Amino acid sequence: SLTTRFAPSPTGYLHVGGARTALYSWLYAQKNKGQFILRIEDTDIERSTQASVDAIMDGMNWLNLEWTQGPFFQTERFDRYKEVIAQLVESGHAYRCYSTAEEVEAMREEARAKGEKEKYNGYWRDRTDYPSDKPYVIRFKNPLDGDVVIHDVVKGDITISNEELDDLIIARSDGTPTYNLTVVVDDWDMEVTHVVRGDDHVSNTPKQINILAALGAEIPQYAHIPMILGDDGKRLSKRHGAVSVMQYRDDGYLPEALLNYLVRLGWSHGDQEIFSREEMIELFDLKDCNRAPSGFNTEKLIWVNQHYMKTLAPSYVAEHLAWHMAEQGINTETGPSLEAIVQVQADRVKTLKEMAEISRYFFEDFTEFDANALKKHLRPVAQQPLEVVKVKLAELTEWKAEAIHAAINATAEELSLGMGKVGMPLRVATTGAGNSPSLDITLELLPKEKVLARIDMALA
Ligand code: GLU
Repeated sequence: SLTTRFAPSPTGYLHVGGARTALYSWLYAQKNKGQFILRIEDTDIERSTQASVDAIMDGMNWLNLEWTQGPFFQTERFDRYKEVIAQLVESGHAYRCYSTAEEVEAMREEARAKGEKEKYNGYWRDRTDYPSDKPYVIRFKNPLDGDVVIHDVVKGDITISNEELDDLIIARSDGTPTYNLTVVVDDWDMEVTHVVRGDDHVSNTPKQINILAALGAEIPQYAHIPMILGDDGKRLSKRHGAVSVMQYRDDGYLPEALLNYLVRLGWSHGDQEIFSREEMIELFDLKDCNRAPSGFNTEKLIWVNQHYMKTLAPSYVAEHLAWHMAEQGINTETGPSLEAIVQVQADRVKTLKEMAEISRYFFEDFTEFDANALKKHLRPVAQQPLEVVKVKLAELTEWKAEAIHAAINATAEELSLGMGKVGMPLRVATTGAGNSPSLDITLELLPKEKVLARIDMALA
């Protein structure tokens, strides 16, 4: 069946570029009811870490990109790679190369001097007079003429002349396989039908196609996705701020928002901006991916995040908010439900982190008022409105927004003040600051005794 894979090297966290590659691979497999493999390319022992493997899987889990096979680890497949290398030597598609590093460097210099492509000159390509006790590498016998054509689903046909390609080293002198060999063996063994990856790999593809052909393997379809640029037009990197998927969680984005943002970053379907998972699966196609690089746009991500905070079920958004509350050390065991918080705050913030920050007063008493709000609304003018409204609030038998609203209204009338002259002092007194959701609803979410106690504190 149709099979895609995501093949990260575990040398860091899952970044947005990798996540988008994973998403596109996952979507394409989902769409076609195929398989989606997670393959950890950990052959670079020095740079690969278990922490990175965990971070990559955490990122994928957070985005809910489930793999149907794996994770496979390349370091567990060395025997298989050796077997294939031996097979290539056996069939005359690869050869032992005894040239020393100095000799290879001399070949390069010679080519440079002649203005030719720098590559191995094939000295050992057809020899068998091996020295008995010298180290050797195994090189792939790249075809000498003809072209390799990549039928790229995104970029169209790309033709590379074999003259451009070197006799690639496929096994080092210690017998370990090199990168292009392991990818080829895995894509072959795992019956990958569609290779979706960043276009920084385009230069590897003709080499991989030649090796696959030498093995008699079927050539998968390739889809090379253009890179992501930062707002300065340079390749997206840490310099641009958050690039790790989990950093976006920490910063207060919903996984639905990041996923939706990522699917649009390099793919479009008319003018549509918002896609549910089901819609993405239905509408996504590799052939509709952009050919040009995409620019990362945080404003737009924020917009998408706001959309999902407002439109997903509050109970669901509340689960994510709970995490941020805990992160910020806010104990939410007592106080209003987080679902209610989401309902009143969702259209007032950019992120869940911000939502948690500005909702602290629902759960914790404060000891100080916001300095500006205090100066503007509480001192020294608000004594009387607060005293009057407190009495009216204390008398309420039903602690509901409507009744609270009426009490504030009645106070303003009684004192011949505008609503704001009562409402603002009351807001600062009960929330500690000059901004909150609609005051009657805010107060309803706080226990009555707390509201009265806070008014006393403001009056003190
Ligand atoms: N391991 C490679 C990387 O992390 C990806 C290889 C591939 O997708 O073919 O860039």
